[in-house]
Amino acid sequence: MNLDYGGILSGEGGSTTLIDPASALALTTLPRASLAETDRAIERAHAAFPAWRAVSPGDRARLLRRFATVVDEHLAELAILEVRNSGHTIGNATWEAGNVRDVLDYYSAAPERQFGRQIPVAGGIDITFYEPLGVVGIIVPWNFPMPIAGWGFGPALAAGNTVVLKPAEVTPLTAIRLAELALEAGIPEGVLTVIPGKGSLVGERFVTHPLVRKVCFTGSTEVGKGVMRGAADQVKAVTLELGGKSANIIFADADLEVAARAAPSAVFDNAGQDCCARSRILVQRSVYDKFMALLEPAVKGFRVRQPADADAEMGPLITAGQLASVSAYVDGADVAFTGSTPGGQGFWYPPTVVIPASAADRIWREEVFGPVVAVLPFGDESEAVAMANDSDFGLSGSIFTSDVGRAIRVARGVEAGNLSVNSHSSVRYWTPFGGFKQSGLGRELGPDAPDAFSEVKNVFIAT
Ligand code: NAD
Repeated sequence: MNLDYGGILSGEGGSTTLIDPASALALTTLPRASLAETDRAIERAHAAFPAWRAVSPGDRARLLRRFATVVDEHLAELAILEVRNSGHTIGNATWEAGNVRDVLDYYSAAPERQFGRQIPVAGGIDITFYEPLGVVGIIVPWNFPMPIAGWGFGPALAAGNTVVLKPAEVTPLTAIRLAELALEAGIPEGVLTVIPGKGSLVGERFVTHPLVRKVCFTGSTEVGKGVMRGAADQVKAVTLELGGKSANIIFADADLEVAARAAPSAVFDNAGQDCCARSRILVQRSVYDKFMALLEPAVKGFRVRQPADADAEMGPLITAGQLASVSAYVDGADVAFTGSTPGGQGFWYPPTVVIPASAADRIWREEVFGPVVAVLPFGDESEAVAMANDSDFGLSGSIFTSDVGRAIRVARGVEAGNLSVNSHSSVRYWTPFGGFKQSGLGRELGPDAPDAFSEVKNVFIAT
């Protein structure tokens, strides 16, 4: 793997030793970018911008399609890299690499379709243009290194911007490989640059460097607030995708077997390290005991395996620190039942179901970001909506009911950006994704994503 993008990484910024989460053994050591190296990468992306925006729409589309094809040719390699660096199951990691390909394919159609408007005016013609912003900084967390990178760089590149991208310190390998594949596909030097390094240095520099015109941040609510505060100094655009504490609401009229079978993967997928994890289950009181009896075998049967095993449904947590943090949430809690783990030296934690004393409990309110779900009963529909909304977050959620009217009422009533009925739909790249309240600002994906990486310009031509 070539880490020396145009002389960006000399090692003067120190290094990070990456750990395989499944075995706790060292994987490799990588240099981190220094401040001067970060600045050089940003300046290089700025220098690459005029030529990239001038690439004709058809040619930019063709280059993005070629990038998608090269990613597709390397799916297995990217997936294995993610299994080793992040402990993702091979099934998930393969889907994640495929998601990057699909996002590139989808947004390859955008350069030829980012239409302005012609607005009727007196004395001339009025037209609008979508202009690229310039250099866009993308800051990625460790929980989904490939998809979240692609959700940023796919539409940003399609809209004619150049991109500097900072992966999370502990999971940089797939992002670095994707930048190499971009070059291989013919995307010019400096158009997509991955800069591994510290958030407080590289990420912070994206916020403070005047040549970076937008910061697209995914990560914790706490750091996201700092990014937003910092961006205010230069009135810099931000997109924020932050934390979640999503509700899975199960009504008495639902197919309880379907709801119980679906609940574990909605929260334990990726070992619960998912901003959309349905980590609060709300069950209508009249069916609470029946639902819990159905949930127990589903949780115990959830296959926590070595991540490279083809039938693994869940792997380890990302780091020893994350394991300690998740354990601390559960210590002293009323645990209803748990699943199992393969054990060993890695950062393993079993799927765990807890019963909070009340909705004031920390485990009911805070994002655990591990395979832990809390369950509480509710009385009627209005109480279910009030309980779901009693949260600082509002990212996603699910509603299980056989009453169509109720499904729609509750979906409209829950303050969250992404709801699904009788399912736990994952993120689809062709539909918008983002949070209400402290779960974020702005939307990613869907047909309008390139507009979020553009400025609208209005031009009047006198006739
Ligand atoms: P984090 O906030 O610690 O880090 C996220 C990224 O920001 C990393 O690349 C980090 O290096 C960087 N960073 C850290 N300090 C910075 C600073 N001062 N300035 C700029 N960048 C900085 O989050 P994490 O622990 O990597 O990820 C977990 C969090 O991400 C969870 O809260 C999760 O809910 C959230 N998340 C949200 C979404 C979403 O789409 N809403 C998706 C995935 C993860």
